[in-house]
Amino acid sequence: MKILVLNCGSSSIKFQLFEMKDKSIPIKGIAEKVGLKGSFVRIEKANGEKIRFEGEIIDHLVGIEYILGIITSKKHGCLSKLTEINAVGHRVVNGGELFSSSVLITDEVQSEVERFCDIAPLHNPANLKGINAIKMLVPGIPQVAVFDTAFHQTLPPYAYMYAIPYSLYKKYGIRKYGFHGTSHYYISKRACEILKVDIKAQRIITVHLGNGASMAAVKDGKSIDTSMGFTPLEGLIMGTRPGDLDAGVLSFIMDKEEIGLSAMSTLVNKQSGMLGITGVSSDMREIEDAAHKNHNDRAMLGLDMYHYRVKKYIGAYASIMGGVDVIVFAGGIGENSPESREAICSGLEFLGIEFDHGKNKGLRSKEAVISTPQSRVKVMVVPTNEELVIAEDTMRIIKETKKTSSK
Ligand code: AMP
Repeated sequence: MKILVLNCGSSSIKFQLFEMKDKSIPIKGIAEKVGLKGSFVRIEKANGEKIRFEGEIIDHLVGIEYILGIITSKKHGCLSKLTEINAVGHRVVNGGELFSSSVLITDEVQSEVERFCDIAPLHNPANLKGINAIKMLVPGIPQVAVFDTAFHQTLPPYAYMYAIPYSLYKKYGIRKYGFHGTSHYYISKRACEILKVDIKAQRIITVHLGNGASMAAVKDGKSIDTSMGFTPLEGLIMGTRPGDLDAGVLSFIMDKEEIGLSAMSTLVNKQSGMLGITGVSSDMREIEDAAHKNHNDRAMLGLDMYHYRVKKYIGAYASIMGGVDVIVFAGGIGENSPESREAICSGLEFLGIEFDHGKNKGLRSKEAVISTPQSRVKVMVVPTNEELVIAEDTMRIIKETKKTSSK
C-alpha cells in the first residue's frame, strides 16, 4: 500500500510518499514560498539524491499538482500513475472537541474542519486547501485527517478550562486544545518500546522543542496536560512566540504602541520568543553561537529564559503525575542541542534524574537514553516521526473502511 502524507502550512507543503510494506520513503520533499516570490520544490529520493525545482507556485493547488507531477515523472519519480497511491493522509492542526482520533475525510468532516478555521485561522485553512487540491487532482482517492489536537482530548476539564467566564467556552469553544499531539503520542510510545516497559504504567514528560515547542504530561499512555493552549502561543518560549504571558501585557502594548489586533497578532506570532528577546535570530543554532562565540548577553539571557521555562514545566508535570519515570526530548532542538538538554536537566537530581553528560555530548538525531543506568528517571532522545503516524493511521482507517463496506 502506498500512502502520500501531506502537511500543508500557509506557505509550504511538506510531503512524504510511504511504501507501507516496509515503511520506506521512495520520495519526500517540500514546496516552499507557496503564493510568494521565489517559490520552489525540493525533493529527496530514497538514495539520498536531492533536487531543487524552481517555478512559480501561486497556490496550494498548483503546488500539489507540481509535487504529483514530480512523483509520477519518468526522470525523478517513482510511480507510473497517480492511481498507484492508495490514500492521502493529511496533518490537520485543529479538530476541536469533536475529533479525538483520526478520521476518513467525508463532506461532513470537511465542513467541521472548516468550522474550526475560526479558532485556528493560521493553520486549518491551509490544511483544507490541501484536501481540496487532492479532491480535484485525484478524484475519488480516500483521504484521512490526522489531528494535532486529538491526542490531547483526554485532558480533564480542570486542566483544559481557562478561568474566564464559562459562557465564552460554551459560545466560542475557548479552552486549551494543545498541539503537536501526533509527536507527543509517537515519542511517548516509541520511548516505551525502546525501554521495553508498558506505557500504561508510566509517567512520561514529552518535550518537543522545535521552532514551535510544547510539552505534555503523559500518564498511563494518555495526555493529561500540555503546554500549548487555545492556540499554539501558550506555554514554552518558541522561535518567534512568547509562550506564557500575562494577558494584561497585550492590552497595555496595544494601548501604548497604538496598534490594532492584526499588528498585535504579528507581534506575538512572528516577532517575540527567542527572536524578540535575543534580537539575533529565531534559530537556536545561531543563538547558541552568538552566546558562546560572540559572548552576546541577550543571546545568553534568551537561552537562560528558554531552559528555565522548560524546567518549570517539568516540575509542574512531575507534580501533577505524582512523579516522573521518563523524560523524552524531540524536535529540532530537543534532538540536536546537547546544551539545551543538559541545561534543562541540571539541578533535577531531586526528582531522581542522573544525567549522563558523556552520552548526551555530541548526540544528534538518534534514539538514545541519556541518563545513567542507575538513574530512576530515564531521560531520552527520540527523534519524532509525525509523518509515520499519519501514514499508519491512514492505512488503518482505509483498511477498516474497506472491511465495513464489504460486510
Ligand atoms: P524544527 O522546527 O523541529 O525543525 O526545529 C527547528 C529548530 O531546531 C531551530 O531552532 C534550529 O536552530 C534547531 N536546531 C537544529 N539543529 C540544531 C543543532 N545542531 N543545535 C541546536 N539547535 C538546532
